[in-house]
Amino acid sequence: MILLKNPVIITMDGGRSILRGRSILIDGDKIARIAEESVIRKSFGLRRCKVIDCRGRVVIPGLINSHTHVAMSFFKGLGHADWQHIYELMFPIERQLTGKDVYQLARLGILEMIKGGTTCFADHYYFIRDIAAAAEEFGMRAVLGHTLMDIKGPHRGPKEFAQAMSFAEDYAGNGLITPCLAPHATETVSPRYLKKIIETAQKKNALIHMHVAQTESEYNYIRKTYGCTPVKYLLDSGAFQGKFLGAHCIYLTRADVRILAKNNVSVAFTPSSEIVFEKLPPIKDMQECGVNIALGTDCVGTADLMSPLHEMKKAFYAIVQEYGPRYPVQPMQMLEMFTINAAKALGLDDRIGSIEENKLADLVILNTSDPAFTPIHDIAANTVLCAHDGMIEHVIINGKIMLADHKLAAVDEDEVMRSAVNCSNSLINKLPRKYAHLKQ
Ligand SMILES: [Zn+2]
Repeated sequence: MILLKNPVIITMDGGRSILRGRSILIDGDKIARIAEESVIRKSFGLRRCKVIDCRGRVVIPGLINSHTHVAMSFFKGLGHADWQHIYELMFPIERQLTGKDVYQLARLGILEMIKGGTTCFADHYYFIRDIAAAAEEFGMRAVLGHTLMDIKGPHRGPKEFAQAMSFAEDYAGNGLITPCLAPHATETVSPRYLKKIIETAQKKNALIHMHVAQTESEYNYIRKTYGCTPVKYLLDSGAFQGKFLGAHCIYLTRADVRILAKNNVSVAFTPSSEIVFEKLPPIKDMQECGVNIALGTDCVGTADLMSPLHEMKKAFYAIVQEYGPRYPVQPMQMLEMFTINAAKALGLDDRIGSIEENKLADLVILNTSDPAFTPIHDIAANTVLCAHDGMIEHVIINGKIMLADHKLAAVDEDEVMRSAVNCSNSLINKLPRKYAHLKQ
């Protein structure tokens, strides 16, 4: 058992309660009790219990990154809003990737994420089994889908579908990893292939995680080819009959937004990549219609940091800039989008996303004794607008302390970084002469 003694608790429960003078008891993988310490001691005894003194600390639910491609860590610092880099640098590298590369690069991404308070991430990439192996090594929760496409793309064909299926079967019922189906996007998956994927997801009651209306060219292609918007195309394909998470959803009509709301489709909003490459999705329309909006970092190359605390600031200021200072957006809503809304988007809100008794113990402890966080008048506003990754002291996932006093419990951080740098250098060294200046 672990007792988190006397923190301020931002619960993200239904009433968005902020608790003071309470402690949290973790028993096994669950939050067993939230009460005054004396009450907990009386009911549970607490011999052989690890006690973490949380005075001067705030505890928040583990942060959930609702859309990422964690193995793209090799691309750090090279995106910079340049589409050419995507075609000339990223795609040739992705064509050469092996499962071993993806594993090493995913470990680097997960290391960065866990130090930034992420306890669960939704990933969409090739060699998903190797990403799962990396997540398991870190004790990290994840919702993972093997990217599927049959138009364009470096890895496609029946072999990829077979891999997605065997991954979904092998990981069904796994405590940390939840398999999902991950068709790439509306213009890179043919209607026939999409139908097959949708039928499989429905049979398995699995989430579909897909890029939707991400670019203007996708929007125009679907309009020209099928005479409707990407969202209407997906509706007519039956994609929204089960659980569906649409990443980006930038090019939407008002009617599309209503379709998403009516069909309980969640949206992964990734402000960095949207600001860099396209524009913001229609957040105001989505909020007015009641669409569930989750936040994600997307990948290195469009968002170079995999930090939810960083990304929620970007989200807040981007929304204020888009709709003006009178638009009633609250900092707390950004925390909702990285916790309970993201849990809902992944179909896991009965287990994670808030600090409540009987939920799984995915928790982040921040030390608030930091000049950036001082003084504290509104602790939720400070957590969204002022907190940074350096304040994250402990991260607990599934009842286990995975980051203790800023240090990873399960892995050697230096080794993870060294292996990823070696892998990244060997990939960069295979690039054409134009990129000679990047070679090691
Ligand atoms: Zn993406």
